[in-house]
Amino acid sequence: MYSISKKIKIGKKALIQKDRFINDEAIPAAVTRFTCCECGQENTVEISPYQSGFPILQIYNENKVISRSELLKNQMTTETSQRMQHYGALTVNDMPTLYFGTNCTSCNANYICIFSYGEKQPSLEVLNISGIWEYQEVE
Ligand SMILES: [Zn+2]
Repeated sequence: MYSISKKIKIGKKALIQKDRFINDEAIPAAVTRFTCCECGQENTVEISPYQSGFPILQIYNENKVISRSELLKNQMTTETSQRMQHYGALTVNDMPTLYFGTNCTSCNANYICIFSYGEKQPSLEVLNISGIWEYQEVE
């Protein structure tokens, strides 16, 4: 799990086993698997609330890593509703949204995972994985 600082180009979306975790399902970590688009390897990802990931703002700020329009076009995030703007302009389900980079354990292809985590309603904590996409660094 790492942060991404170079410009990237988004490729295919990987197939994920499970993308929504409620309350205890995400404690101590939400665990799911995704299938590598290149080699078919099943990779495991573990997301620990309040520990895993980096704020998504860091990658779309000034279009540093990826532009806002790419994030929207690939349906990686949506525009945040007006009353939740404190979470940033782009989020997943209007909740605090994070990302991380990971690699296929077999062929080393690069992937970016985007997810959000927070209290959707009182006593309903939801971790929602928007998706895991293959990416390439742009020279
Ligand atoms: Zn692979």
